[in-house]
Amino acid sequence: MTSKKRILSAIQPTGDMHFGNYFGAVQNWVRLQEQYDCVYGVVDYHAMSMPYNPKKLRENTWSILFNLIAVGVDVDNLFIQSLVPEHAELSWIFNCFCSYGQLSRMTQFKDKSQQSKEKATDAFISAGLFGYPVLQAADILIYRADYVPVGKDQEQHLELTRNIAERFNKQVGKDYFVLPETLYTEVPKVMSTADPARKMSKSAGEKHHINVFADEARIRKQIKSAVTDTGQATEGMSAGVENLFSLLGASGKKEAYEYLRTCYQNGTLKYSELKAEVAEGLVGLSAVFKDRKAAIEQDKKNIKNQIKASSAQIRKRAQETVKEVKELTGLANVRF
Ligand code: AMP
Repeated sequence: MTSKKRILSAIQPTGDMHFGNYFGAVQNWVRLQEQYDCVYGVVDYHAMSMPYNPKKLRENTWSILFNLIAVGVDVDNLFIQSLVPEHAELSWIFNCFCSYGQLSRMTQFKDKSQQSKEKATDAFISAGLFGYPVLQAADILIYRADYVPVGKDQEQHLELTRNIAERFNKQVGKDYFVLPETLYTEVPKVMSTADPARKMSKSAGEKHHINVFADEARIRKQIKSAVTDTGQATEGMSAGVENLFSLLGASGKKEAYEYLRTCYQNGTLKYSELKAEVAEGLVGLSAVFKDRKAAIEQDKKNIKNQIKASSAQIRKRAQETVKEVKELTGLANVRF
């Protein structure tokens, strides 16, 4: 038994990892591994909540796992959500501890259902999208996680997770679930460089996210065309410039950051110079990750087996929780 505090976080296998994922969450995943007992999932059940391609889902799941390992996540800490079906079982139970009204207020549901409507005339908004935060609560609570390193976009879902845990504990008359806390990175919200009013996101489309593993030329191009000023009068720094500074700081270019910040204060900042430094920072990080990924590609079979084994190992914890939850809620149990 370990006495370390527990961490759970997850990512969806919907295309490549972008710098919003990396700076907002995954960079923290890597750092936290030394200090905490960490469990990180690739949540393929969640990826089914929006229209998706079944042929691509499994391919994307493996691809994001390789990406996570390339940026420094330890294989033993990784699992695939659908290899731990207890998540879905606990999610059903939690559906009964969460109100319809609460779920209707979730901004992610509102945003994503709006995106579906914009993309298709026959928009299909699944009940899975509506119930997404309940499954997320199950992902977290099933491991009795103390902390959840996520981006700021997940704040509302974490609040809901605590509500579910509280309602559950009250109903069963026991402080069974820990109320998990969020852990934010220094850059809790990365904005789209093409539209700094919205967050960097895969589902918003190609130009709204910068892939961590993209070609150098593409990264440079995306930063070069980043929106700085919209022409509208704003008080202080514009959202676009602020986002570029965040990216610069997060990419580890502290000196350039300090220097350009002073230029900004003196009114001598050239956007082209800021963009060149940001591009340099992102390209530098990306190059290291791409090298590691190339090595992983050579050893795929072995790594897949390791992930299957770690998923089986992590599943044991989930099974233990579900067994206890069934006991507490009056459901039939193996010991029944
Ligand atoms: P997702 O790709 O939606 O599964 O998100 C995976 C992780 O990345 C979550 O912890 C999110 O909070 C985080 N994340 C996604 N987009 C952003 C963003 N634009 N800024 C900061 N964090 C983000």
